[in-house]
Amino acid sequence: MKTKKIRTALVIGGGSGMGRSATTALGASGIQVFVADLDVAAARETVSNHLGDQGRGEAFHVDVSRSDSVGALFQAVRERVDRLDLLVHTAAMLGKTVFVEDMTDEEWHKMMAVNLDGMFYACRESVRWMKEHKTGRIILFSSVASLTPTPGALHYSASKGAVNMMGRTLAQEVAKHNIRVNVVAPGYIETPMLDGLPEGFSDYIVKKTPLRRLGDPEEIGALVAFLASPEADFFTGQVLSPNGGFVI
Ligand code: NAD
Repeated sequence: MKTKKIRTALVIGGGSGMGRSATTALGASGIQVFVADLDVAAARETVSNHLGDQGRGEAFHVDVSRSDSVGALFQAVRERVDRLDLLVHTAAMLGKTVFVEDMTDEEWHKMMAVNLDGMFYACRESVRWMKEHKTGRIILFSSVASLTPTPGALHYSASKGAVNMMGRTLAQEVAKHNIRVNVVAPGYIETPMLDGLPEGFSDYIVKKTPLRRLGDPEEIGALVAFLASPEADFFTGQVLSPNGGFVI
């Protein structure tokens, strides 16, 4: 089965970083992009200034850690279009570096609520809608931290490892509905998220990266546009990791 041409996309986490660059790339392909973020002002900024001259879109607030908030977001998008062709889910938190013996219950549960529960709620809503139309694509964002250990980020790494398996399992579940699911596991990319890393960490990462640089968010936007294109129709259940050779 082939997918239908993508006309509409929802980018959750589109107020910053790779969600914003994905929005720009999709907008340039003529796709109507709904941009949702906890920071609704940032989502509005993406729609106003990063969608390109031809781009069409609208901004929404969402807190992905809350099922009711994700439900309300999908309801609002359903009121605007009859079909959702693509979900791109980049929203996540990094949290501060903390080793297991000092990690509180609250830190652990917050990380899981934002990084993992949020993926589940959005996948569930997307599949319920996309199966009505027998077409759709889902792109979830995990991390290179899902592929190699990152000490001091046990909760983040565990949440991202689970996202990989969620994406792979979902791909098998929903192939019968003509829905493709893939996961992007970026290496270190120059976005505001890196501001949360300890001093000097970026230099250390660059030294450890065979290509000796951080990634550019536009490179990730281009990957999302590819995964949304007909040329990527045979991809499903894959974890793609643009990481400069950090993990080989
Ligand atoms: P970013 O911090 O620039 O953007 C993340 C966005 O998610 C922000 O706009 C933020 O407001 C939003 N968000 C956070 N919590 C939310 C919530 N509860 N509800 C709704 N929105 C929420 O991050 P980024 O660098 O663009 O990261 C995108 C994805 O890539 C994330 O899943 C991240 O874990 C992953 N990643 C990033 C890097 C990197 O080097 N930047 C590396 C590996 C993986």
